[in-house]
Amino acid sequence: MLRSRILPIALLLATSAATVVAAPPAPRPWMNTTLSPDARAALIVREMTRDEKLTLVFGYFGTAFAPRKFTPPAEARDGSAGYVPAIPRLGIPAQWQTDAGMGVATQGGAAVKRERTALPSGLATTATWDPAMAFAGGAMIGDEAHRSGFNVMLAGGVNLMREPRNGRNFEYGGEDPLLAGTMSGAQIAGIQSNHVISTIKHYAVNDQETDRDTGNSIIDPGAARVSDLLAFQIGIEKGKPGSIMCSYNRVNGTHACENAFLLTDVLRRDWKWPGYVMSDWGATHSTAKAANAGLEQDSGFPFDAEPYFGAPLKAAVERGKVSEARLTEMATRIVRSMFAQGLFEHPVSERPIDLAAHAVVTRTDAEAGAVLLRNEGTLLPLAPTVKRIAVIGGHADKGVLAGGGSSLVYPVGSNAVPGIAPTTWPGPVMYYPSSPLAAIRKLAPDAQVDFASGDDPAAAAALAKSSDVVIVFATQWAGEAFDVSLSLGDQDALIDAVAAANPRTVVVLETGGPVLTPWATKVGAVLEAWYPGTAGGEAIANLLFGRANPSGRLPATFPRSLDQLPRPATPNKGDTRYDEGATVGYKWYDAKQLKPAFAFGHGLTYTSFTYGGLKADMRGGTIVATARVDNTGARSGSAVPQIYVGSVAGGWEAPKRLGGWSKVTVAPGAHATVTVTIDPRLLATWNEARREWSIKDGDYTVMLGASAGDIRQTVRIRVPARVLPVDWRPE
Ligand code: BGC
Repeated sequence: MLRSRILPIALLLATSAATVVAAPPAPRPWMNTTLSPDARAALIVREMTRDEKLTLVFGYFGTAFAPRKFTPPAEARDGSAGYVPAIPRLGIPAQWQTDAGMGVATQGGAAVKRERTALPSGLATTATWDPAMAFAGGAMIGDEAHRSGFNVMLAGGVNLMREPRNGRNFEYGGEDPLLAGTMSGAQIAGIQSNHVISTIKHYAVNDQETDRDTGNSIIDPGAARVSDLLAFQIGIEKGKPGSIMCSYNRVNGTHACENAFLLTDVLRRDWKWPGYVMSDWGATHSTAKAANAGLEQDSGFPFDAEPYFGAPLKAAVERGKVSEARLTEMATRIVRSMFAQGLFEHPVSERPIDLAAHAVVTRTDAEAGAVLLRNEGTLLPLAPTVKRIAVIGGHADKGVLAGGGSSLVYPVGSNAVPGIAPTTWPGPVMYYPSSPLAAIRKLAPDAQVDFASGDDPAAAAALAKSSDVVIVFATQWAGEAFDVSLSLGDQDALIDAVAAANPRTVVVLETGGPVLTPWATKVGAVLEAWYPGTAGGEAIANLLFGRANPSGRLPATFPRSLDQLPRPATPNKGDTRYDEGATVGYKWYDAKQLKPAFAFGHGLTYTSFTYGGLKADMRGGTIVATARVDNTGARSGSAVPQIYVGSVAGGWEAPKRLGGWSKVTVAPGAHATVTVTIDPRLLATWNEARREWSIKDGDYTVMLGASAGDIRQTVRIRVPARVLPVDWRPE
């Protein structure tokens, strides 16, 4: 024992049978916070026994799971995602893990649910195009995690939207690697500002839920580097997550959690990332293969077929199938992240949460992320003088929809619309008790506001006809473990009937991602509110009445029809060939010259902007663009000038890439100048054989747009050749 070994001999001699002297505490040099996380990790791991190292690499589900006759260890937080035991001898705290990116979730099977604040969906936060907003939301949910006893948050969803029907798109950051990586990185940094480790997940190319455990994503590795992997790379650079969660699927034939290309070649050799990889719950499929490929922590026992990193890993180390050095490295990476995020110095405990302040954070995020897709004849914002308002459908009398699966945050209060199937995993279908109808009534106290459920389209149309303005809510429930249809089903006919009765119809969408909008030109306005979180009803009402000016922009293209997609057929089992490579989202539409229903980057406001004055210069080996935005309307609002870049010589996956953007709030009559520095990797092609970025000497176009489909100005610039090494990153 360390404690007896360091007891000074003189003291031992002086101690008689009659006097008991307490041993002085063992020195713990790794608690010296002036040392680097690497140095501290090296010091503590040196003291660990093999069994202690093995303790760190094996995690338990935090919730009872009857199908496997599983009861979690007593020290796990009840109803949580996971738990890795402490090592008290060395002062190593337990790792208490909670889902996810919208807030502190509770597993559906738990008897008691934690009532916490839910942010809008990850896609909604991405739609703010405001990294500061993503940071603030992350800081808020990280605070709730720490005050709920959790020091690891399974957040940071960044899988690229290749498949708009992916049931988990609502947890992710849309279709562009720069946008998705920047926004999820900001959220991760916010979470980790609370001394909580955040993951980034699900690594990698886990872009559909159909057949998610064994489906095989087939993609050219070079194309992956400039699409799915680039989103992770940027998210990791910006957020510095302590952990990465490898995904369920196979990538080019090998399960992600035992895929040496992904876990070792890309993450460590190329990106020099120092953290630890944890498996998704049930995503480990081997012991030595996984450990040697780069998996450090096997999560969520009992979801794997076997406890791979339990007794089998011990046996594998004893037999030399996994070296002691590799086990040491695994433990080192885990404690290194724990030191880096301050888990030793800032122990978790259950403390009160400022729910009122957090409601403001989530409402502000929902307001900034909602996207005004259409607004004919300035139907919105609603005039305070409007006399008769019809509110129809979407359970808008009760609340707002949330996405399903492990990320579900249970709200204060209870499900506003209980009982909708499925009521168990991946349900329950949850409506947060934040009623848009109630919030609308509050903002229009002198109006008559009537509600129709929409179950009877004729009755809804009759109500619409006798109203000054109609607000129809349409919902699409999406969640983990299943993919969705882009069609809103019967709700399309309801919208048609209502719009035919009264063209002054506003459609409010609560969807996981893009949907088909065949009725769009028949209605006056469309507001995409996504899953707007626990204050979503208030946020929607504030937007409808102009208390908040819509400022969200689409993080994903809304297709006109399924045949515009790279794979029009429903997601399949087995192999999915991503033959489009890096030509994802708007890049696909550009390359195929398709006109979508609503373009990536699109979003209207209640004011108007002109974009111009575009200039591009070479500075520090890359392009720096400046542009001017004028608010020509009558109210303050936020513009999101987007800079796209293109190669005149071609040779890219698409005619243009998003190179950067800036979100600026401008007063009426005023203007702002924005400066955008292009990450030079976005001017390069990736050479997988040489493992380097290469910018070709030649002419490039720099485009200033209000969306990918609305380019306002283009300039040309000559860019000299440049090669960037594989581990290049912005300062
Ligand atoms: C999900 C992860 C989640 C984990 C723990 C899995 O089903 O894919 O995103 O973090 O469960 O709840």
